[in-house]
Amino acid sequence: MKHRRNEKKSGREGLRIQERVGYCTDCGRSVDCLDGFLNGVIFGDGRLRCFPCDEKNKEKDDPM
Ligand SMILES: [Zn+2]
Repeated sequence: MKHRRNEKKSGREGLRIQERVGYCTDCGRSVDCLDGFLNGVIFGDGRLRCFPCDEKNKEKDDPM
């Protein structure tokens, strides 16, 4: 197999795909999709919440 030296694959390996999905409804932080992994939670009605806020909310909601 011969590789063409001139043909560079763009940038480095492990390039991250980051997609802005929206903003947390609680704190306003941006919620992004990294490599297909969302760093937050999307609700059925389309609202977004980042993980820290979601964690806080769970604590509140949790009766224990
Ligand atoms: Zn938040």
